[in-house]
Amino acid sequence: MSDGRASGGFGIFTVDVEDWYHGLIRDPDRWAACEDRILGPTEHLLGLLRSTGNHGTFFVLGSIAKRHPELVRRIVEDGHEVGCHGYQHISLKRLDPAQFREDLERALAALREAGAQEVVSYRAPFFSLERKAGWALDILADCGIRIDSSVFPMRIGYYGSARARNHPHLAGRIWEYPVTLPSFGGLRLPLAGGFYCRFFPLSWTLAGIRYQLSRGAEPVFYIHPWELDPEHPRITVGRFLTYRHYLRLDRTEQVLRELLQRWRWRSLRECHAAREEGARREGWPGRGAAHAGR
Ligand SMILES: [Zn+2]
Repeated sequence: MSDGRASGGFGIFTVDVEDWYHGLIRDPDRWAACEDRILGPTEHLLGLLRSTGNHGTFFVLGSIAKRHPELVRRIVEDGHEVGCHGYQHISLKRLDPAQFREDLERALAALREAGAQEVVSYRAPFFSLERKAGWALDILADCGIRIDSSVFPMRIGYYGSARARNHPHLAGRIWEYPVTLPSFGGLRLPLAGGFYCRFFPLSWTLAGIRYQLSRGAEPVFYIHPWELDPEHPRITVGRFLTYRHYLRLDRTEQVLRELLQRWRWRSLRECHAAREEGARREGWPGRGAAHAGR
């Protein structure tokens, strides 16, 4: 069960704290009518992390922090990092710079009010911080964000970029930690996280993570609380999206248990602090650092 725990490597565990409808229904005016189910599965996720001695980054939507400040406090009390996932869960492709800044500032205020003291990490809804939305990096830095994890380095469906770098690097004033993918002979495969860990066989996901760790990379895993809640309402929103969303939700828990028991996981902030500490010790500036696993 613990083939990587003794090896010293860590994975980066991330959670996008949004409810089941935020990615399914694009019109925010319809969200008020949807059943609020965020508390149960998020608590369940916190329990899995606690029982396996792992930590992660919880990218919390500002609107959820506003509605459930006690949830943010629970995340903080358990020793996890609270990051920002925007206020309304709107793709950056649908926001201009002024709207983006307003959404971000509103989200950060809600997170602070709920008890998250210093928020330095950000993930854009729908991995939508792509090359064309590069203007967002300056706004993030202006608002105190130092780490971004909004880039999916492979094009699939409506998101991701095949040309994006597949390792942590400095982008302007922000450190970019993409959702690093195992790369086999130049072929990147999305094995760890969300839909992909429900779509591919579990053995593939485990092999991908093991491969990245063996090359000194820190695999980034991401999950949503609703993926641990197979009973949430079923709606149809187009074949592709409906398939992705509801596929084998009853498998998520098994995947998480395997991952959390086999390897050690930490937050983005912890990972970045370790990287900076290592760079200091070696007298290495660490800027634009190369990283295994590209
Ligand atoms: Zn999201």
